[in-house]
Amino acid sequence: MLVFTSLLVLAIFFTVFIISDVRSYKQRKVNSMISLAQVIGANSIAPIQFQDNETARNILADLHSVAPETVHAGIIDKDGKVFASYTKPGADSFHIPPSLYEDGSLFTGNRLLVSNDIINEGKVVGKVVLEVELTELAEIKRSKYEVAAILLVIALGFSFLVAVAIQTYISKRLLYLVNTMQEVSKTGDYSKTIKDDGKDEISVLITGFNNLMKEVKHNQQKKDEFISIASHELKTPLTTIKGYLDLLNTIEEKQPNKQFVQKASSNVIKLEKLIHDLLDVSKIQSGQLQFNMKEFDIDLLLDETIAATQMVTGSHSIVREDHLSNEIVSADRQRIEQVLTNLLSNAIKYSPGEKKVIVNSQKTDSELIIKIRDFGIGIPKEEHSNIFERFYRTKDISQTITGFGLGLYICRDIVKRHNGKIWVETEEKGSAFYFSLPLKNHKLNGEHRN
Ligand code: ADP
Repeated sequence: MLVFTSLLVLAIFFTVFIISDVRSYKQRKVNSMISLAQVIGANSIAPIQFQDNETARNILADLHSVAPETVHAGIIDKDGKVFASYTKPGADSFHIPPSLYEDGSLFTGNRLLVSNDIINEGKVVGKVVLEVELTELAEIKRSKYEVAAILLVIALGFSFLVAVAIQTYISKRLLYLVNTMQEVSKTGDYSKTIKDDGKDEISVLITGFNNLMKEVKHNQQKKDEFISIASHELKTPLTTIKGYLDLLNTIEEKQPNKQFVQKASSNVIKLEKLIHDLLDVSKIQSGQLQFNMKEFDIDLLLDETIAATQMVTGSHSIVREDHLSNEIVSADRQRIEQVLTNLLSNAIKYSPGEKKVIVNSQKTDSELIIKIRDFGIGIPKEEHSNIFERFYRTKDISQTITGFGLGLYICRDIVKRHNGKIWVETEEKGSAFYFSLPLKNHKLNGEHRN
């Protein structure tokens, strides 16, 4: 826009400049030719009076040296007859346009015609008509166009450079803002702010963004504090309720009372799981999730966890398809079990109506990869990275299947802190969750968390 505007302004300026220059050249030319016609007229008075055509022709013939651009010249007597004429050698014949029988000037193509009355003692005794070639006009126009073109190119280059510099300055800051926003929405790290020393509208936008981030962070801290306090406060009474329900379950024999107690118990277990998850999230947030690293047989843990999950599900059968044996890893056994249990129960929960969940594992030189595959509702590819964020649940799922969107967030933190990776892949039907654990030289990554 900047380049276009400056070019437009310059083009208008040059057009006006060239037009006015050409006009003033033409005016100068008219004035000088009229002066010449006046001189010729003054010299022609006597020849006209004495009908001396010869002298009149000689006067006109001098034009060849005095004004070589003259193509035709004529002295016309008061009756309108041509008294004497001159034609430049090689030029075409001369016809005086009728309009020129009045005093004045006329431009036709690159020629100028002027006519001027010959006055003697206040009376018009004849007329001098001159036709000159405007040879300089084309030259003047050409040189002006050249200068204008060169200046336009220089102006174009200059304004382009200025535009690029301004654009880069503006775009750089805007792009930085956009990238930071995208990063924040991807990572959920609301502590990000942008430094900017400018004083323009973009700075106002950046300041607005920084203030917004501060507010979001403050609100998040308050929310985290609330979750932490609420889950701690809920934990103690819930443990008591669970204890009493367990007691009731053992002493109550009568139906349907026993059934009611069991239903209450199973819901308390769900609540307990939620509170544990919330406490884990608080610990992750404050960097206080502790790990008890020990070497153990992951093969055994896989079998045990599958068996335990199988005990509480009648709908699916969990099939282990790998052939690992006595594979030792150094990790927090309970936390890895938590990851496995969460992935297995998700595989069951999100594949209603299906019958199978497959567990597989694979060993590479440096790591062990465990795969849990279901044949359920699947996860759209664009949501793959989001599902590991806390409280994130895929669209439309909350209506049909209950959950809080905390399990995968906790799993990701646990696996990351074991220097492993966790990810999901879309299968032809359903999805497959993978997580890896390093096999050798494994160290707990307690310091580098993200
Ligand atoms: P929750 O299951 O309590 O909602 P999670 O953190 O375990 O929380 O899972 C987050 C979201 O990821 C779920 O709400 C669901 O939308 C999606 N999800 C997880 N596992 C599966 C799976 N096996 N199949 C389909 N969707 C899944």
